[in-house]
Amino acid sequence: MYKKILVLVLILFLIVPVFVQSKTNNDVPQVKVGVVEDSKEIKVEVPSNYMMVNEYSGNSIKCRDGDLVKDGEFILQPLSIGIKITHLDGTLIDVFTGPIRITEDYETDSKARVDGIRYRGDIVISTQYKEDENGDSQDTLLAVNHIDIQSYLRGVVPKEMPAFWHVEALKAQAVTARTYTLKSMGKHGQEYDLCSTQHCQVYGGYDAEQSSTDHAVEATSGKVLTYNNSLAHTFYHAANGGHTEAPENVWTNALPYLKSTPDPYDNPYEGYLKPRADWGPVSFTADNIISRLKYRDIDVGELVDVVIRERASSGRVIDLEFVGTGDSYNALREKARTIFSYNCEKEEESYPSLNSQMFDLKTDSQVWVQTSSEKSEVSRLENAFVATASGSEQLDISKISLKSGYEGKDRIIPFRPTSFVFNGQGWGHGIGMSQSGAYNRAKDGQTYDEIMSFYYSGTELKQWYK
Ligand SMILES: [Zn+2]
Repeated sequence: MYKKILVLVLILFLIVPVFVQSKTNNDVPQVKVGVVEDSKEIKVEVPSNYMMVNEYSGNSIKCRDGDLVKDGEFILQPLSIGIKITHLDGTLIDVFTGPIRITEDYETDSKARVDGIRYRGDIVISTQYKEDENGDSQDTLLAVNHIDIQSYLRGVVPKEMPAFWHVEALKAQAVTARTYTLKSMGKHGQEYDLCSTQHCQVYGGYDAEQSSTDHAVEATSGKVLTYNNSLAHTFYHAANGGHTEAPENVWTNALPYLKSTPDPYDNPYEGYLKPRADWGPVSFTADNIISRLKYRDIDVGELVDVVIRERASSGRVIDLEFVGTGDSYNALREKARTIFSYNCEKEEESYPSLNSQMFDLKTDSQVWVQTSSEKSEVSRLENAFVATASGSEQLDISKISLKSGYEGKDRIIPFRPTSFVFNGQGWGHGIGMSQSGAYNRAKDGQTYDEIMSFYYSGTELKQWYK
């Protein structure tokens, strides 16, 4: 019996240090970030202490010249059978069949550079098979940064908020980014969790790090926002125009901790983000708008008018109707803004877009009609009636033209609008934390947890890892 206990104690004694060791390592979650996608060529620069290993076997990669692990720059290219490594001048070094892992050297501060950017952590480069628009398969390369979340966030926070902003605003940004990251694990599938662009979160690697944002990440280490003990959706945006928005007015589903509330700390008419948060005029011709609609397979015939049909309590437009000669189309919720965005034909990329759903719209056919009791607006003369001796009668647009003396010049007012001019407030969807509001709140003495409890009301700050 004693022998058994002794053996057990010995086993425990042997196991415990190993267990403690691995627990410490596992406490900070690891993230896989896609840093280069669909590339035909990746340029890598490794400092002398880096190791290149075969991802499957774990063996150090050797090449014809001996060990590849030495100071050097080289080019990786995809082949159907694997990855080709050449010198910068194109001379072949070797071909490897599987993914290549460039492992971080923790002893020195030197970092591997991938397409010009240095990263902490490991980089795994593998081939991807993609179909192009003709249905032909294309061999491309994918580079994934395997990194602990604390180091990752050091490369994210300064890309999402200016590093010179108040530390309490930076801490709020660190917590929202950490919560978003943990909630997005696996978002891009098996090979990596998040990409490094705006689609997920902008990540600039080691080269983006700043001491102020490093401090914000470290000072909030492990802290996340939760609701009912689950990670919260920590949406954020640049500026809310003075009123936060509820997600059901932008997307579809409501969330109890994301509400539409006035925000006195986000005044679009002053402050750092003013030019973007108090935006306009942004102009479109009727032809611009028709091509936008056609790109999305919406055919209304000729454009007769664009009319704001409904606003949310925040003032954001949630129903924008495109009235045409053949049909009409209602752009609902965020579509009222994104329908103008320029992911259209390439030659149209210079067209402007709307910064938010909080906007006013003026056209060149709007006229004010003064009656004995009030002044009212008519959006287009095509709808107007005139008083005649025999009663009221609709204007015959083929017969009448109208000139105004606006700005001292004669101006022919079209019966149908030919130009549409938008002016608005806010930058982004308005849901969750306003960065501009966080900036002003921090300057006013609020701490990061106070800032977050306003923008995510009812959530709890929790320690997710040590
Ligand atoms: Zn993404």
